[in-house]
Amino acid sequence: MEDGRRALPYHRKGWVLRQSGIGGRWSRRSASLFWFLVAALLTVPERAPAADEDREPPVLAYAARIAGDRARTRIVIDLDRKPTFEVRYLERPDRIVVDLPAFTFAFAADDLKARGLFKDVRFGAVDARSARIVLTTERPAQLALAEVQADEGGKGFRLVLDAEMVKREVFDDLVKRQAWSGGKAAVGAEASEAAVAAARGDRLGTSGAVPGGAFVIAIDAGHGGIDNGAIASETKTPEKDITLAFAKALQRRLAREPGIFAFLTREGDEFLSLSERVTIARQHHANLFVSLHADKLRQDNIRGATVYTISDKASDRMAAELAERENLADTIGGVDLASEPAEVTDILLDFTRRETQAFSVAMAESVVSSFEGQVALINNPHRFAGFRVLQAHDVPSILLELGFLSNKEDEKVLLDESWREKIAELLTAAIRRYREPVLANGG
Ligand SMILES: [Zn+2]
Repeated sequence: MEDGRRALPYHRKGWVLRQSGIGGRWSRRSASLFWFLVAALLTVPERAPAADEDREPPVLAYAARIAGDRARTRIVIDLDRKPTFEVRYLERPDRIVVDLPAFTFAFAADDLKARGLFKDVRFGAVDARSARIVLTTERPAQLALAEVQADEGGKGFRLVLDAEMVKREVFDDLVKRQAWSGGKAAVGAEASEAAVAAARGDRLGTSGAVPGGAFVIAIDAGHGGIDNGAIASETKTPEKDITLAFAKALQRRLAREPGIFAFLTREGDEFLSLSERVTIARQHHANLFVSLHADKLRQDNIRGATVYTISDKASDRMAAELAERENLADTIGGVDLASEPAEVTDILLDFTRRETQAFSVAMAESVVSSFEGQVALINNPHRFAGFRVLQAHDVPSILLELGFLSNKEDEKVLLDESWREKIAELLTAAIRRYREPVLANGG
């Protein structure tokens, strides 16, 4: 197997060496410098050497950007033409390799500075006919999406590489599979379906594999580990314990529903970044994501449940402030949010597709109708804001504030086991109602 580390630190090497061989008198270094300057000055890619006149000119990669975190990272490269490409996975160190035809990389190396899942990003020519991108990963990762998309304006194309964290077994499986298929790796979730299923057992505890055709629900207990969430005013109970108790009660209740399989994003007192929560839900093919919370407000007289869906524009000030505070969870856990460029938020939000959004809203409304007359709701109980934990583009997601730990009455019910069971019952009814139209359509 070819070693990806040979991929060039410097994008013209292959071609320059060929030229300096012809040039003779020049030192390799001054020849490199000369041709680098020539390449930099020409807006049109260099003319191919005479023997290769019939060859296609290199694909021009004129801009690039990278965004994301340790759970998911996206690379976008703007191109003048549509290239073919192949993806491979290499071990020790773990790398994702994208093999390309001849490319002219005309953007600054800093535009693809390693971040998120990648600790090293390299790109360059391999020889006159091929180029390569080598992504060395911080932890096992796979490309959930790798495709060339046409720009909306019809101006050009872009290569989109969406990497996401996977378990070690899944990555090992990707490496093994491509050995059988002559070096090429399939891209996307399907590539490792079997490995995901195999790896599922330990993540999901003793419950093991998902029964075929089940409606899968990811129950996300807010906060955890170093991130306590809010602290109850009277009993000083941390929000992370309350959310986990509710998550477990809901999972137990849903286990009695036919055709439903519910799992927890965290089963103990552990820290998960918001992006990891979303990624875990997506990797288990969740049909629904429910994040549970019990936050604090400055106004201690406000009580009752609220259901949130994602939106880049908040429904009101309270929703905006809550989302802002919830999104800080990553900072508490040491995820460096400060270094995220502003465009990251946009890129992440653009994962949220309209169709998924409509389902999220339907689920939120179903929860509100289940709760009405049964438990205290705040006024306008369905609200929206830019919660990062609700950003899965293909999993309808809601965030449920069960009540507020800043309010004494809410605190009392939030710690009451029978109230917890009642909420689990009402949420189960809401999920049943939400599924009705889906079932009617045979989905
Ligand atoms: Zn919270």
